[in-house]
Amino acid sequence: MVNLDDLNAEQRAAVLHRGGPLLVLAGAGSGKTRVIVHRIASLVAGGVPAWSILAMTFTNKAAGEMRERAGALLGPLAEGLWVSTFHATGAAILRREVEAVGLSPRFSIYDDTDQLGLARHVLREAGREGDAAAGRDLLAAVDRKKSGMGEPPDGGTAMLIERYDRALRAANAVDFGDLLLLPVELFARRPEVLERWRRRFSHVLVDEFQDTNRIQYRLLKLLCPDGMDLCVVGDDDQSIYGWRGAEVSNILDFEKDYPGATVVKLERNYRSDGNILAAAQAVIAQNPHRHDKTLWTDRPAGARIGLLVAGDDYEEADRIAAFLAERHRAGTPLGEMAVFYRINAQSRVLEDGLRLARVPYVIVRGRSFYERAEIKDAVAYLRLLINPRSDADVLRIINSPPRKIGEATVERLSRHAAARGLCLYDALAEGELSANADLDGGSRGRLAAFRQLLDDLIATCAHGNAREAAEAVLTRTGLLDRYARQEGPEAQERVENLRELLRAAAESDVRASTAVAPGPAEPGADLGEESDPLLSFLEEIALLGDADQETGRDRVSLMTLHAAKGLEFDVVAIAGMEEGVFPHSRAIASHAFYAGEEELHEERRLCYVGFTRARRRLVVSCAFRRALFGDPKMNPPSRFLREVPAELLDGILPAAERRAVPMAGERTIDRSYDQSWRGDRFPARVRRPAAPPAPRAETARATGATVRHAVFGVGKVVAADGEGPDAKLTVRFPSVGDKRIVARFVTPV
Ligand code: ATP
Ligand code: MG
Repeated sequence: MVNLDDLNAEQRAAVLHRGGPLLVLAGAGSGKTRVIVHRIASLVAGGVPAWSILAMTFTNKAAGEMRERAGALLGPLAEGLWVSTFHATGAAILRREVEAVGLSPRFSIYDDTDQLGLARHVLREAGREGDAAAGRDLLAAVDRKKSGMGEPPDGGTAMLIERYDRALRAANAVDFGDLLLLPVELFARRPEVLERWRRRFSHVLVDEFQDTNRIQYRLLKLLCPDGMDLCVVGDDDQSIYGWRGAEVSNILDFEKDYPGATVVKLERNYRSDGNILAAAQAVIAQNPHRHDKTLWTDRPAGARIGLLVAGDDYEEADRIAAFLAERHRAGTPLGEMAVFYRINAQSRVLEDGLRLARVPYVIVRGRSFYERAEIKDAVAYLRLLINPRSDADVLRIINSPPRKIGEATVERLSRHAAARGLCLYDALAEGELSANADLDGGSRGRLAAFRQLLDDLIATCAHGNAREAAEAVLTRTGLLDRYARQEGPEAQERVENLRELLRAAAESDVRASTAVAPGPAEPGADLGEESDPLLSFLEEIALLGDADQETGRDRVSLMTLHAAKGLEFDVVAIAGMEEGVFPHSRAIASHAFYAGEEELHEERRLCYVGFTRARRRLVVSCAFRRALFGDPKMNPPSRFLREVPAELLDGILPAAERRAVPMAGERTIDRSYDQSWRGDRFPARVRRPAAPPAPRAETARATGATVRHAVFGVGKVVAADGEGPDAKLTVRFPSVGDKRIVARFVTPV
């Protein structure tokens, strides 16, 4: 028998409820997921075979945790439990029903890149390839249709979607949307198949039910028409995927859809200290039309919410890193700490801050900045400007953005290059192209134009800095335009990322320019002589990539607020709490122009999700100045910060209209305004990458000192030969080992 002693009365009622639809509707941290896990255990202990229980949630991480916790309660009895994400469940059903849906058994699941390639192929076949954005647009339409969002597509789009689907099937493949849609359509079409699956799953449980979309809901309805053994748990205040088609009405109308449903409310929060819970509730209380809920805790009030007001996002990153380092010294394991942000582009500066403070971190879900496809494309161009012989880079971008150079053409080009022993770039030369008999006139012209584009870029960028080169690449190749012309949050994020790359290049230029004065040509001074800013930039990126590859569990987790759903940490920091960042500018704009407040409400729910992840310490931060998408902006503090009662905040929120910040280009920050919280009085370290400190105190470069180099990052001086700016230091860098460097090329940290 499963021990139910560690459940409160309501939780126990939900766990023991049998024979009828059950909804657990409750606030954050009240034990909803715990109810699911214990309910599974209790069912199995009561004789229900584990394999006939289906439990679904939204992320692999959440599913993994659920499985683990059920396993801990049940031991070997947990064998065969079906706990997974909605998509994985759909895939599993499809694998077992391949014939009925017209696939063969080893079908592939196409990821985003594959899908895009296919969409382009379809457009090409349909003679609609001209528009660079069309591929993405088609995929967005496919997604909308397959997740049951919005109006049915118009005739032309519907025809393209049909062709796309046909091409998918021809490749024996499905896309993400199919994983749910195909089972639903199959069940609707073939009652006898549905009947088998209904018998297969005697009990169905769903966590995070507020985020189900129409198709997921239909799947549940089909599997559990009367809801006899359906248990769903969720929190309408945590519905954060409306923009992807989640319908919060699924949870709010559950009782209408399943008459006679039992509704259990959980009101005690076990997760967070009092002040954190109070702050979260104060914020969410500002949303209208909420399902009435109360949450209380008998935990102590705990620390107040740390408010960090930084001069800019670099200082923000430094101070968050310093705070986490301090918490770590005070005994909190790194794995129990997290930093959340609203948009991925914020992660780069935060990563820098953590790296500099030597706080190990891991990016949860979502790739590190330089691994994103659009950034990789841009970097591939930049690398080609330096080294046109890099064939992999040519292959990566020869048709990115799409310029109608198809695979067959690339194949012919490669064959010719191989036969003549040339690199691809050389095979693109005019003489070689005309000597390449495999090519038709059209392809030859397009390849020549591509080579011309590269040559123009090379000529422009030969003497420029990294920022100019990056800008030329983004604008002249059409990389930026390609996404700027698309609709939707994903395209917007790509644009933001590309702009962020420009900013990174500009900063690298400043670092490189402080290291210009080439030292005397002697060994050891070689890196100090580095004066090619683009090369320095690319090297920085490459070394960054190396450092990213370490893995391990004892790390601070960095993730978007969306990815944080369902998780909990002892210590949480939320960066970028400013108007225009969080709430996102899109939500504010829609509020202002369309009087549609729903997006803003969704942002507020996201804030509630973020706050309620924290058990013991929550730190929220904003910066006066942030250059997130290129140009520095001065965003007022987030309205969500104002919604937190002042007495819960440790720190003073600056007035929204104050502008006590230096203008761009100024080096010092007037700190008189800064009455804010300082990470448990941990001294804030201010780093100014836009204006590196002039080399000073020689002593800082003596043996044992920590120094920073523009390319190799932070290292320790292990030996010094001579004195003053020309002293030759041996510096040990974690990334590249020992390097001999002239003293003036490093700065003390
Ligand atoms: P969220 O809304 O964030 O998904 P939740 O409602 O699913 O939260 P859980 O994650 O199940 O909440 O529980 C929050 C924390 O409280 C967990 O650490 C859990 O172990 C603990 N907890 C829940 N119920 C109890 C209880 N009855 N006694 C002790 N601890 C509990
Ligand atoms: Mg939960």
